[in-house]
Amino acid sequence: MSIPPFHACFPPTPLQRIEHPILDEKGLLLSVKRDDLIHPVVSGNKWRKLKYILRHAQTLNATHLISMGGPYSNHLHTLAYLGKEMGFRTTGLIRGEHKNLSPALKDMRHWGMQIEFVSRDTYRQLRNHKKFDAPPSSERNGYWIAEGGYNPLALRGIEEMIKELPVGSDIIFTAPCGTGCTLAGIINAAPTETRVQGVSVLKGDGYLQHEVSNLLDECTAERSTKAAWAVSDDYHFGGFGKVNKHLTAFMTEFENHTGIPLDPVYTGKLFYGLADMILKDQFPSGSHLIAIHTGGLQGRRTI
Ligand SMILES: *Cc1c(COP(=O)(O)O)cnc(C)c1O
Repeated sequence: MSIPPFHACFPPTPLQRIEHPILDEKGLLLSVKRDDLIHPVVSGNKWRKLKYILRHAQTLNATHLISMGGPYSNHLHTLAYLGKEMGFRTTGLIRGEHKNLSPALKDMRHWGMQIEFVSRDTYRQLRNHKKFDAPPSSERNGYWIAEGGYNPLALRGIEEMIKELPVGSDIIFTAPCGTGCTLAGIINAAPTETRVQGVSVLKGDGYLQHEVSNLLDECTAERSTKAAWAVSDDYHFGGFGKVNKHLTAFMTEFENHTGIPLDPVYTGKLFYGLADMILKDQFPSGSHLIAIHTGGLQGRRTI
């Protein structure tokens, strides 16, 4: 497959209405923000998050970007491609040893990213390193980007996405959460009368509440009131990357009904969770749910 070049300027991505008898019955509207359509590789929240981080790297005249991730990381996959397109050298620190390269790792290598495997212990230590533009080890020279692009600058790109959406007191934004950075960006940018509902894709009680609050504290000092927000821990299917037949069956049904492709790691769990919350009457009648399709479709190759 040949990949079209990436242009950092794209029109606002579409907002697609979903029709379903259950939505009519519950008095709800459901729309999907199709950020998966930004570009075949540079999709979804990973571009929104990296946009201002890469600009910052450019203003510092950085030429080498270093970041970390798992062997299926959407973040590193996007970073490797953007590095190639924008003229940065890139290094990816990968958790664990992998004799057989995942499809994502093969792509990253192909796009010129230097791949280095690090032990799980080292990886855990790197995770604590959230400050940007200084790499965690003095032997390395470059601009450091924390796991998943977790960085206050990431919130600015997410804000641009929210500005493309309608406003109103009936609106509930929903998105899948990994590090929680995207959710923090949505909460930070959402008008106060709206609501924000995250769906966690990993196991870790209360972890996301903590991460999201921390990021918000760093970024929203000037804003005292924020949209009400919550994160559901009920739809991680046993942990990050864990999938079962209920999830895959749901994804197939959803894709057949809507024509919207999902990935099993993030967006599959988001829509599964949303469908369940709708059935359990967790959203007031009259609400307009706006689900953010955060992209990540390269992850479909791993089921
Ligand atoms: C990384 C990713 C997320 C999670 O984003 P966070 O900001 O880490 O919470 C959600 N969806 C997709 C498709 C992703 O690749």
